[in-house]
Amino acid sequence: MTLFARAARIAALFAAAFFLAIPTSVPAESAELAKNLFGSKKLPAATAPASYGFYSKGCFSGGVAIATDGPTWQAMRLSRNRRWGHPTMINLVEKLSRDATADGWPGLLIGDISQPRGGPMLTGHASHQIGLDADIWFTPMPDRRLSVSERENMSATSLVNEKTHLVKDRLWTSAHARLLKRAASYPEVERILVNPGIKKKLCETVKGDRAWLQKVRPFWGHDYHFHIRIGCQPGSSGCKRQAATTAGEGCDESLAWWFTEEPWRPNKNPDAPKARDLMTMASLPKECRAVLQAPAPVSEAAVTVGPGADAMAVAHAEAPSAVVSEPAQDAVAKPVISPGAAPISAYAATPEMGAPLPRPRPGQ
Ligand SMILES: [Zn+2]
Repeated sequence: MTLFARAARIAALFAAAFFLAIPTSVPAESAELAKNLFGSKKLPAATAPASYGFYSKGCFSGGVAIATDGPTWQAMRLSRNRRWGHPTMINLVEKLSRDATADGWPGLLIGDISQPRGGPMLTGHASHQIGLDADIWFTPMPDRRLSVSERENMSATSLVNEKTHLVKDRLWTSAHARLLKRAASYPEVERILVNPGIKKKLCETVKGDRAWLQKVRPFWGHDYHFHIRIGCQPGSSGCKRQAATTAGEGCDESLAWWFTEEPWRPNKNPDAPKARDLMTMASLPKECRAVLQAPAPVSEAAVTVGPGADAMAVAHAEAPSAVVSEPAQDAVAKPVISPGAAPISAYAATPEMGAPLPRPRPGQ
């Protein structure tokens, strides 16, 4: 074999290997569990803010973090690295913390928002995947700064009796109701999830303006925190809207259902795997691959909202500007809505805290 022929053969082998590598690597990645890939990301995708998919099946780019501490908030469970969200969500949490203190609430303890690039989580929530969900504790912020270990271990106080599903009256205050009303007051907020006992308490006690009760929806769990969900944001054409809430205050038979035996029947199949434990990259919108591969910002501080960060500027910008220059910058594909996809109910989420699976109910 001449030197030339040998070189040509080697080149041909390389070419074959290259072409083989692409088709075989795609199924391998498609089969990889999305929670492992998204759960290991430490920083967001430094591209324009956009949510892809649905609250319980998607991801997002252009995320920003809320600082661990602000004048009117403290973030909890820092080790989870779930202080990330769409800039609108993060700004809304920051604004709620200020407005709430003006209402007499001492400040917010902030629970989980999203992972830096969203996606399914290794533990916990079914939703919170597209940067548009945030959990806020019902426990008022203490007047001192909690240590990292306190934030990790401080146990949350349930406001609801787990047998009767009614609010514990010694713990419930009108300040809790004011906080929920304030959260519901923002037009971006589409839904607030609370335990049925809390919804019932609001139904029975709120005087005057009651229109905001429509946004407050009963759901399993949510007895030590409430869950704020905002709608799909401009620039997110790949974001799948949730169904509109039922008209009215929701203090009717749809609430009464929660005080029957049916919603609390033990899960017949408690060991069945949860959706997040099965979700592969192939189950997520295809843009989520590009979100995973997109470059990270230069630092967490560059995309953090709160004191010490020029973060408000970052959060209001179209996209975080301080990014590492890598060719993958434009990697996030134009969002595509898949018309054939079946609509997903907002209640398709696996309930948190090991509660039984949701079943259809009247009026939903
Ligand atoms: Zn939540």
